[in-house]
Amino acid sequence: MTNFDVVIVGGGPAGLSAAVALGRAKRSVVVIDAGEPRNAPAHAVHNFLTRDGTSPAELARLGREEAASYGATLVDAVAEGVQRTDDGFAVTLSSGGVVAGRRLLVTTGLVDELPDIEGLRERWGIDALHCPYCHGWEVRDRAIGVLATGPRAMHQALMFRQWSADITLLLNDQPLPATEELELLAARGIEIVQGRVERLVVEHNALVGVELRGGGVRPLEALVVGAPVSVRAGLLVDLGVELTDHPMGMGQYVATDQAGATSLPGVWAAGNVTDLSAQVITSAAAGLWAGAQINASLTADDEQRALEEYRRA
Ligand SMILES: Cc1cc2nc3c(=O)[nH]c(=O)nc-3n(C[C@H](O)[C@H](O)[C@H](O)COP(=O)(O)OP(=O)(O)OC[C@H]3O[C@@H](n4cnc5c(N)ncnc54)[C@H](O)[C@@H]3O)c2cc1C
Repeated sequence: MTNFDVVIVGGGPAGLSAAVALGRAKRSVVVIDAGEPRNAPAHAVHNFLTRDGTSPAELARLGREEAASYGATLVDAVAEGVQRTDDGFAVTLSSGGVVAGRRLLVTTGLVDELPDIEGLRERWGIDALHCPYCHGWEVRDRAIGVLATGPRAMHQALMFRQWSADITLLLNDQPLPATEELELLAARGIEIVQGRVERLVVEHNALVGVELRGGGVRPLEALVVGAPVSVRAGLLVDLGVELTDHPMGMGQYVATDQAGATSLPGVWAAGNVTDLSAQVITSAAAGLWAGAQINASLTADDEQRALEEYRRA
């Protein structure tokens, strides 16, 4: 078993940023990463100052390189289990072996639970989208459909109206909005199309529409899908963390305090696992902050130990 100051599970922007902060604080760190960041299907990362247009894979490569340059150990594996030990945590790896740390930081992100519509998964991150700040500019002034998957569709349709005057709300068998909501949609020029969406229609590697039950095709150039999300929090739940419902019905998340600490002593979380709306840059910022707070808590432990030894001597 290898011992570190901090075990970080998840090597996305949050985990790698924490590893850089902790490495620069001369802490020994291991990052365990399964290599499946949420934005992997997208061609490029946007709204990350100075890195706009970088591919998610390249951003991960640069982040890993930077973390390693400050001494972080990077392990390509799935963290399959975690146990509390006398002085921290022991994490078992899919590659075999166990790593131990005085503190645990979980930055495992989330999964977008896409509805089961033919062709949707293949277009996800290309012209099937969820976030205006990630992709809105790329589809500005195009014909955009918003697929209703729940009450948030209304909010998304009105939001994307900033990026295009050609917005269609595809009800997809969800209930018709309330009268005042219909009025607001009409005032913003947003058309409502009823009926189930059966499949995405793609030509020459581009979305050209959606086929509705019964056979009609609604021409579109982009499809917005506000899919529910599931945090990858199995390790934390096994340790005893309870998930919290998101107030807007996006799913559940791991609640932390302002320092990124969970309800369990010694266990931190950052990035999408604790903030469902976090972007790449804000996940990285949360990782940095959690890393700094973990270092502060380790420093407090080190001071206490030094004092006890000093008094014994
Ligand atoms: C299609 C798409 C495009 C996007 N585009 C943008 C954009 O342009 N700009 C932007 O700011 N945001 C974008 N986002 C949001 C962005 O993906 C997230 O903000 C960001 O990935 C969150 O970072 P994170 O570190 O919390 O999680 P992630 O990046 O998801 O990283 C989590 C890592 O933990 C690993 N992991 C999970 N469980 C385990 C385990 N048990 N053991 C080991 N490793 C594990 C995963 O494999 C993954 O590598 C996009 C999202 C999607 C879906």
